[in-house]
Amino acid sequence: MNDCLFCRIAAGQAPAKVVHQDDDAIAIVDINPQAPTHLLVFPRKHIPTLNDLAPEDDALVGKLHRVAAKLAAERGIAQEGWRAVFNTNRGVGQTVFHIHLHLLGGRRMTWPPG
Ligand code: AMP
Ligand code: ZN
Repeated sequence: MNDCLFCRIAAGQAPAKVVHQDDDAIAIVDINPQAPTHLLVFPRKHIPTLNDLAPEDDALVGKLHRVAAKLAAERGIAQEGWRAVFNTNRGVGQTVFHIHLHLLGGRRMTWPPG
Protein backbone atom coordinates (compact mmCIF):
# COMPACT_ATOMS: atom_id res chain seq x y z
CA MET A 1 0.00 0.00 0.00
CA ASN A 2 2.89 2.41 0.68
CA ASP A 3 3.84 2.24 -2.96
CA CYS A 4 0.45 3.72 -3.85
CA LEU A 5 0.76 7.41 -4.71
CA PHE A 6 -2.74 8.35 -3.57
CA CYS A 7 -2.37 6.47 -0.26
CA ARG A 8 0.82 8.44 0.33
CA ILE A 9 -0.89 11.74 -0.56
CA ALA A 10 -3.80 10.89 1.76
CA ALA A 11 -1.30 10.19 4.55
CA GLY A 12 0.50 13.49 3.92
CA GLN A 13 3.61 11.60 2.80
CA ALA A 14 3.63 12.91 -0.77
CA PRO A 15 3.02 16.48 -1.94
CA ALA A 16 -0.24 17.56 -3.54
CA LYS A 17 -2.45 20.63 -3.74
CA VAL A 18 -5.23 19.47 -1.41
CA VAL A 19 -8.59 21.21 -1.88
CA HIS A 20 -10.76 19.02 0.38
CA GLN A 21 -10.15 16.59 3.24
CA ASP A 22 -12.45 14.70 5.57
CA ASP A 23 -12.41 11.37 7.39
CA ASP A 24 -13.32 9.43 4.26
CA ALA A 25 -12.14 11.37 1.23
CA ILE A 26 -9.57 13.78 -0.11
CA ALA A 27 -9.50 15.95 -3.22
CA ILE A 28 -6.46 17.34 -4.99
CA VAL A 29 -5.65 19.39 -8.07
CA ASP A 30 -4.59 17.17 -10.98
CA ILE A 31 -0.92 17.71 -11.80
CA ASN A 32 -1.63 17.50 -15.56
CA PRO A 33 -4.99 19.28 -15.96
CA GLN A 34 -7.19 18.41 -18.93
CA ALA A 35 -9.65 21.26 -18.29
CA PRO A 36 -9.63 24.61 -16.45
CA THR A 37 -10.99 22.72 -13.44
CA HIS A 38 -9.50 19.26 -13.04
CA LEU A 39 -9.65 17.81 -9.55
CA LEU A 40 -9.26 14.25 -8.32
CA VAL A 41 -11.55 13.03 -5.53
CA PHE A 42 -10.57 9.75 -3.90
CA PRO A 43 -11.19 7.75 -0.74
CA ARG A 44 -8.60 7.32 1.99
CA LYS A 45 -9.34 3.61 1.70
CA HIS A 46 -7.17 1.85 -0.88
CA ILE A 47 -9.40 0.35 -3.58
CA PRO A 48 -7.49 -0.37 -6.83
CA THR A 49 -10.33 -0.09 -9.37
CA LEU A 50 -14.11 0.12 -9.49
CA ASN A 51 -14.01 -3.61 -10.26
CA ASP A 52 -12.85 -4.13 -6.67
CA LEU A 53 -15.76 -2.40 -4.93
CA ALA A 54 -17.49 -4.29 -2.12
CA PRO A 55 -21.05 -3.73 -0.90
CA GLU A 56 -19.60 -1.91 2.12
CA ASP A 57 -18.15 0.73 -0.24
CA ASP A 58 -21.56 1.89 -1.53
CA ALA A 59 -21.78 4.90 0.77
CA LEU A 60 -18.15 5.80 0.19
CA VAL A 61 -18.59 5.96 -3.58
CA GLY A 62 -21.70 8.08 -3.11
CA LYS A 63 -19.73 10.42 -0.91
CA LEU A 64 -17.04 10.91 -3.55
CA HIS A 65 -19.74 12.21 -5.87
CA ARG A 66 -21.20 14.51 -3.24
CA VAL A 67 -17.76 15.96 -2.47
CA ALA A 68 -17.26 16.51 -6.21
CA ALA A 69 -20.60 18.33 -6.47
CA LYS A 70 -19.62 20.55 -3.53
CA LEU A 71 -16.29 21.38 -5.15
CA ALA A 72 -17.99 22.10 -8.49
CA ALA A 73 -20.37 24.50 -6.74
CA GLU A 74 -17.49 26.22 -4.94
CA ARG A 75 -15.74 26.74 -8.27
CA GLY A 76 -18.86 28.12 -9.96
CA ILE A 77 -19.19 25.37 -12.57
CA ALA A 78 -22.14 23.47 -11.11
CA GLN A 79 -24.70 25.13 -13.36
CA GLU A 80 -22.64 25.30 -16.54
CA GLY A 81 -21.77 21.66 -16.12
CA TRP A 82 -19.01 19.33 -15.15
CA ARG A 83 -18.02 15.77 -15.81
CA ALA A 84 -17.20 12.95 -13.38
CA VAL A 85 -14.98 10.21 -14.78
CA PHE A 86 -13.56 7.03 -13.27
CA ASN A 87 -11.13 5.30 -15.61
CA THR A 88 -11.14 1.57 -14.92
CA ASN A 89 -8.04 -0.34 -15.98
CA ARG A 90 -5.28 0.44 -18.45
CA GLY A 91 -7.37 -0.09 -21.55
CA VAL A 92 -9.20 3.20 -20.94
CA GLY A 93 -6.32 5.10 -19.39
CA GLN A 94 -6.16 4.27 -15.68
CA THR A 95 -2.61 4.90 -14.50
CA VAL A 96 -3.06 5.25 -10.72
CA PHE A 97 -4.57 2.10 -9.24
CA HIS A 98 -6.42 3.72 -6.33
CA ILE A 99 -9.91 4.74 -7.40
CA HIS A 100 -10.38 8.44 -8.10
CA LEU A 101 -13.11 10.58 -9.55
CA HIS A 102 -11.89 13.06 -12.15
CA LEU A 103 -13.90 16.29 -11.76
CA LEU A 104 -13.56 18.12 -15.08
CA GLY A 105 -15.13 21.43 -16.02
CA GLY A 106 -14.73 24.98 -17.16
CA ARG A 107 -14.77 24.28 -20.89
CA ARG A 108 -17.06 22.76 -23.51
CA MET A 109 -16.76 19.01 -23.88
CA THR A 110 -17.79 16.62 -26.56
CA TRP A 111 -19.72 13.40 -26.22
CA PRO A 112 -18.91 10.59 -26.55
CA PRO A 113 -15.46 10.92 -24.99
CA GLY A 114 -12.50 9.86 -27.11
P1 AMP B 1 -5.91 7.97 -14.29
O1 AMP B 1 -5.05 8.03 -15.52
O2 AMP B 1 -7.39 7.93 -14.54
O3 AMP B 1 -5.46 6.86 -13.36
O4 AMP B 1 -5.69 9.33 -13.52
C1 AMP B 1 -4.52 9.60 -12.80
C2 AMP B 1 -4.41 11.10 -12.72
O5 AMP B 1 -3.51 11.41 -11.68
C3 AMP B 1 -3.87 11.76 -13.99
O6 AMP B 1 -4.82 12.71 -14.47
C4 AMP B 1 -2.57 12.41 -13.54
O7 AMP B 1 -2.34 13.65 -14.17
C5 AMP B 1 -2.80 12.55 -12.05
N1 AMP B 1 -1.62 12.57 -11.23
C6 AMP B 1 -0.56 11.74 -11.28
N2 AMP B 1 0.34 12.05 -10.33
C7 AMP B 1 -0.17 13.10 -9.65
C8 AMP B 1 0.27 13.87 -8.54
N3 AMP B 1 1.45 13.64 -7.93
N4 AMP B 1 -0.51 14.89 -8.11
C9 AMP B 1 -1.68 15.16 -8.73
N5 AMP B 1 -2.17 14.46 -9.76
C10 AMP B 1 -1.42 13.43 -10.22
ZN1 ZN C 1 -3.89 3.57 -2.47
